[in-house]
This record gives sequence, C-alpha cells and structure tokens, in this order.
Amino acid sequence: MEDIEIYNLATDVISSIAADLNENLYSKINGVLSVLWRTDEKFNASAQSNSKVDEPPVHTVNMYYELARQLYRDIEEYCAYIESECDKPIFDTLFGSHHKYKELIPSSFSKAEYKKNMFISTLTWVFFHEIAHLNQEHGHIRSQILQSDNHSIDECNIYKSENLEGRAAAIYHTTEMAADFEAVYICIKELVRHFKGMDLEDSIGSFACALSCALYKFHGIKPLNIDSAPKGTHPSVIVRLEHLLPQIWEFFDIAEVQSLGKIKLSRSELVYICELHSVTVGLFWFRKQLLSEEKFHEFLHIRTIDRIGGREYMKTIISTWDEIEPEINKNKRFDDPLALLRFTGQYRELVFETINS
Ligand SMILES: [Zn+2]
Repeated sequence: MEDIEIYNLATDVISSIAADLNENLYSKINGVLSVLWRTDEKFNASAQSNSKVDEPPVHTVNMYYELARQLYRDIEEYCAYIESECDKPIFDTLFGSHHKYKELIPSSFSKAEYKKNMFISTLTWVFFHEIAHLNQEHGHIRSQILQSDNHSIDECNIYKSENLEGRAAAIYHTTEMAADFEAVYICIKELVRHFKGMDLEDSIGSFACALSCALYKFHGIKPLNIDSAPKGTHPSVIVRLEHLLPQIWEFFDIAEVQSLGKIKLSRSELVYICELHSVTVGLFWFRKQLLSEEKFHEFLHIRTIDRIGGREYMKTIISTWDEIEPEINKNKRFDDPLALLRFTGQYRELVFETINS
C-alpha cells in the first residue's frame, strides 16, 4: 500500500468512528468530539479536553499521519517476518505442542485483508485509548492532584517525561492503565459485533497481535525491565500486556460472549491464542532492534507480580486506582461499568499477599 492509501484508510476509519461517537454519545449530552490530523512527523497521538468537568464535553483527539504510516509499515514488516519462518523453530519449541498451533497468519483472510484488519485494529485501539482518557477526564485528574495547568494528554515525546517519579508517575501510570483497559474493552466488544465463529477466533489472535504491535512501537527502544516504583509517564510495555492479554481472554471466557460470538474455546485455548500472537510480536521487535540473545527473556510475558519489584509496583497502581476511581466515576462522560479498570478480589489478595500465590 502506498503512503497516501494508508492515510486515506486511516482518516476514513477514524472519521467514521468519530461521526458515530458524535451522533450516539456526544450529541446526547450537548458535547462535541473533534479529530485533528497532524502532519508533524511524530509517532504520537494526543487528547485535549477543552471544557470543565461540569460542562458538556468539548473534546479533541490529535492523530498523526506519521503514526498511521509507521503502524502500517510495522504490520507489513511483521507479516513478512512471520512468512519468512526465520524464527519458526523457536515458535515450534514454545508453542508447538498445543493442539491449536497452526498457521500464524490465518488463511481465512487474504494477506492484504489480514494486514488491513490488523492495521484497523491497531489504529482503532490507539484512538479509543485517547477517547478513554477524555471520557474519564484524566487531564482533570492529573492537573487536580498534581496541581498543574496541563490538561493535555500525550502518548510520546513528552519533555523530560523520564524524570517523572513518585506520586506524579503513579497517577500517570494508573490513568494510562485505565485508558488501556477501556480501549481494549471497546475493541473486543466490537470484534464480537463484527465476527462470528472461526472468523472471531482468528480475530482474537490478530487483535492480540495488533495491540502488541502498537504497544511495542510506543515503547520504542527503552529497556523492558520494570522498576518497583512507577517512573516516567507510561508503564512498561510488558506490564501493559501482562494486564491487557488477561483482560482479552477473561472477556472471551464469558459464556454469553462465546454464545453471542458463536465460538467454543476453553480458557486455556484463549490464553494460548493471546500469548502465542503477542509473543510472536515481542520476538519480532527483539529481532528488529537487533538485541543480544540474553535480552530475549525480557520479551516473554509472565505475571507482573512474579517479576522483581512487580508486586510493589502493582501495590502502588492498585492503591492509586482506589484513590482516584471515585472522582473518575463522578466525572466520566459515558457510562459503561465494564469499561472501567478493575482489579479482582483474587488479584488484590495476590498483590497484597493476603493469600499465597
Ligand atoms: Zn495514554
């Protein structure tokens, strides 16, 4: 696909979602959502709320043509990497014994269709991540708690963002995880609306791929290790995936969702589909960045709480979420309780060590 075709597809997809949101949500509360396409050569997306929380929402999402171009080019490169089978022996070793192990790019779609679907998933997830920041008025939360005038939300290129630590970093990381959660929920709900049966099963894998592509890209070439305390504005890509992949398999493990989507998958099959596809993207990034072999383990997901410092990190995130959730609940613009970040009682017990893991 030529660059201009990528831009046209991206603007068509986002315009149609924005028109739908304006018609079905924003107009009902006298609000308005605008999307601005920026020509700066940055891999970024950002959001801005131009209204107070007690006024009808005037929200803007800035999308960047360069973001769309790079997302598509990465997907193209990822698909070429899978087709080259250069790492097939590793995938065979890690996943080959599972009865669901078959083609990594499903033949139910043409190659062009698969890339296009993955691209639309990636772009849509990024867009809904920005919408989630706006819906939950994270700019307000951040500026109120951190006493700053900055209401805008940026995903990349934040001046001196790596110096952020302590309470400020905890608020940023927690609101990022809340935006991730809502965006994934919206996207997987849409998958069930659009696909049924085997097409839905294939779409779960391709969404796990698409999500991983976007997250690794945003993460860039920073080290993948996590610290016990939040630092900077965004959680590590691995921590984000270690929470979003379970969100996907837990959603599709619900009996009503399986019945609506005409699929029959056990929990272990769902876990397998998500992990397999996400790990192939992790390995692709590992190869793309020409990292040395000893770094490979950093690209494999485990449970965040099993990492050194992971339990302390999640204690901070959960405590911060418990602190800001009432204010977010009060201010959020559109009410879908399932879209709001939550930590189950069982997970809280594991993190706070009230039961043995
Ligand atoms: Zn964000």
